[in-house]
Amino acid sequence: MQALLLEQSEGKTLAAIKNIASDLLPAGNVTVDISWSGINYKDALAITGKGKIIRQFPMVPGIDFAGTVHHSEDPRFHTGQAVLLTGWGVGEHHWGGLAEQARVNGDWLVAMPEGMDARKAMIIGTAGFTAMLCVMALEEGGVTPESGEVLVTGASGGVGSTAIALLSALGYRVVAVSGRDSTHDYLRQLGASEILPRSAFSDDTRPLEKQRWAGAVDTAGDRVLASVLAQMNYNSTVAACGLAGGFALPTTVMPFILRNVRLQGVDSVMTPAARRSEAWKRLVKILPASFYQQATREVPLADAADAAARLLDNRVTGRTLVKIG
Ligand code: NDP
Repeated sequence: MQALLLEQSEGKTLAAIKNIASDLLPAGNVTVDISWSGINYKDALAITGKGKIIRQFPMVPGIDFAGTVHHSEDPRFHTGQAVLLTGWGVGEHHWGGLAEQARVNGDWLVAMPEGMDARKAMIIGTAGFTAMLCVMALEEGGVTPESGEVLVTGASGGVGSTAIALLSALGYRVVAVSGRDSTHDYLRQLGASEILPRSAFSDDTRPLEKQRWAGAVDTAGDRVLASVLAQMNYNSTVAACGLAGGFALPTTVMPFILRNVRLQGVDSVMTPAARRSEAWKRLVKILPASFYQQATREVPLADAADAAARLLDNRVTGRTLVKIG
């Protein structure tokens, strides 16, 4: 089978398509024929070696994939069944989705929900799944469409764009924060009613600013998140899932102790199975058909490494899909 294999030489990560015997796949009780995968921010860091994502080489990257079961020793899955996988460290410390086949633990697989197919699932991918978890976190924090405007940072990225589509379909008024003028039409099509420049959120912020937002989905971290926190309404919730701007958080306790702001962390990798299937069912229900017609770029496996470099250069809008089977 063909796979994108990452190897390390003199501290550098080398990525190349290799022909690998299927019996070299790691241990697991379900083997999947992969039809679609995608390039996430984390994949891009892993493939280019710009982030310390992978510690054991050789490694097949690809943190999510969709396909059909080739062989299963797990009674919950049968040959030919459509499945998808996101997270669980696949593509980080267990060979992942940028290959024709993967062998994984059945506990990590999600049966393809009714109304979804492999390509659609990968348009959503880890990024879209994380966006759904962020929206659920806002709902659990009590944020409703009547509470006020919801801010989404890193708006044109995979998580941000899906968060906008979900929130807008649920009736929220969404304000997007983007660092690129070229994305404005795309963000409006997704449902953003207003777009603010990233520069408005990255300057030095006072501990408390004018209250503006009932909820926020933050994919940027660092000064952007600090700025967002200072502008949150009394009793609002921020779902923080990313670090596109950096992993620091130069803030104060003021938004928390004077405005009752809730900062809810969101992790998609170790999300328990029950919450996973709830999130996937809601994605099927909420996302409109137009979401799947959005600008997605399709590349063959051979171009996955190049696509990863483009993503890190912030030259990609929306999702990059990798067509495999
Ligand atoms: P993308 O690269 O698709 O999008 C990130 C977006 O952030 C860009 O499109 C850009 O949007 C914006 N951005 C880029 N550079 C900066 C910067 N220096 N400062 C502020 N904003 C910036 O990534 P994803 O949407 O896939 O992921 C977003 C973040 O969420 C990443 O940090 C990723 O690691 C994290 N993540 C976390 C998960 C979890 O489980 N917690 C799961 C998935 C992702 P624009 O040009 O519109 O400003």
